[in-house]
Amino acid sequence: MKKRIGVMGGTFDPVHHGHLVAASEVAHLFQLDEVVFVPTGQPWQKSTQKVSAAEDRYLMTVIATASNPQFSVSRSDIERGGRTYTIDTLRDLRAEHPEAELFFITGADALAQIFSWRKAEELFSLAHFIGVTRPGHTLSDPGFPAGGVSLVEVPALAISSTDCRQRVAKGEPVWYLVPDGVVRYIDKRRLYR
Ligand code: ATP
Ligand code: MG
Repeated sequence: MKKRIGVMGGTFDPVHHGHLVAASEVAHLFQLDEVVFVPTGQPWQKSTQKVSAAEDRYLMTVIATASNPQFSVSRSDIERGGRTYTIDTLRDLRAEHPEAELFFITGADALAQIFSWRKAEELFSLAHFIGVTRPGHTLSDPGFPAGGVSLVEVPALAISSTDCRQRVAKGEPVWYLVPDGVVRYIDKRRLYR
């Protein structure tokens, strides 16, 4: 049996329970052996906004996933440097796991832009794409290649990293929006103030 590996790319600034629930639900539905979280280097879609240091985003993702034996974190996007493109993420993971079946997990919002991504055809040859719902975004199929994309509904959690950052900046709590260790890490490193 081929190993089935989920790939959850994201900025994770910070990682929150929406990310974790989505990964857990997809792992269950698609019988994945593991889910690899891949924090971006400098995300190209977000090049105009300030993004926390890669090392902070990486460590928060490690803290958030450490207790789940199915979850791991890859440094591949961070170490490649420069802007992150999904195609490079998938090529790296493919090289690392030549025998595995890859499932790229992404929000419905990001999926809608899939054809604006570089090398869309090669993307579909490298991985199966799974678009997950999130509140405020409806799932519609803009004509993906047959069999290349699955749309799944995950328990709706109206949490976004943007909202978490804004809450911290205003002195509002992020307890229970992000894992406890991440609350403490944000505090310790004085992120988002
Ligand atoms: P930001 O607000 O800074 O854009 P974000 O909350 O969207 O952050 P990202 O790191 O950009 O977090 O997200 C990584 C992936 O997780 C994306 O594919 C995104 O669509 C998905 N995602 C984010 N929040 C949720 C959520 N609450 N439920 C399901 N999927 C989510
Ligand atoms: Mg986002």
